Amino acid sequence: MREKLESEIGDLLLSEGVIRERVRALGAEIRNAYAPGSFVLLGLLNGSLLFTADLLREVPPETEVVFWRVKSYRGTNSTGVCEGLEAEGGDFTGRAVLVVDDILDSGCTLQAVDKRLRILGASSVEHCVLLAKRRPRLPGSPLPRWIGFEIPDRFVVGYGLDYNGRYRGLRSIRVLAEGRMAAGLGNRRTES
Ligand code: 5GP
Ligand code: MG
Repeated sequence: MREKLESEIGDLLLSEGVIRERVRALGAEIRNAYAPGSFVLLGLLNGSLLFTADLLREVPPETEVVFWRVKSYRGTNSTGVCEGLEAEGGDFTGRAVLVVDDILDSGCTLQAVDKRLRILGASSVEHCVLLAKRRPRLPGSPLPRWIGFEIPDRFVVGYGLDYNGRYRGLRSIRVLAEGRMAAGLGNRRTES
């Protein structure tokens, strides 16, 4: 029943099990790359909510986690402007930061986050994204050291990713069905 309802949201791209295995493998690589307690995880809300929480359980317990709230999407389109960063801060002076995001699209979010972290004095910045769309990026946008999956340039939902606030709690990742986009869910800004 649940499977049938979920399939109406859109075609399955990545199952819960496939995501779980990949997050474990990414966690192992990150554990090997940093000494315990030597870096801070910076999760970008809301989209990386589940990914950051799962990754956090794969890294040493000393690891500090911080969240910033960033918006760049409206409905199924990037605005090309990353909003909310001017309000974000924290003590990053001299610290190694691992930025965690749900999905890399144009690269504008990671680029803006990097700029902000440099202003705040971070000593190094690396990136881990669960998904990266196969598409051109903004010139100069950072290339993540860790990418979970490269995916087609389609609008996806689930495992933290929303469409106008919906579907974040899906355990799998799905390509949003055309019919859902046209379902009159309004133009309320997506929170991702
Ligand atoms: P970028 O700044 O790289 O263009 O876009 C990255 C941000 O846009 C992500 O953090 C995510 O919040 C949102 N985004 C990009 N593509 C998608 C998508 O296919 N689905 C959803 N739900 N959000 C997306
Ligand atoms: Mg996001």
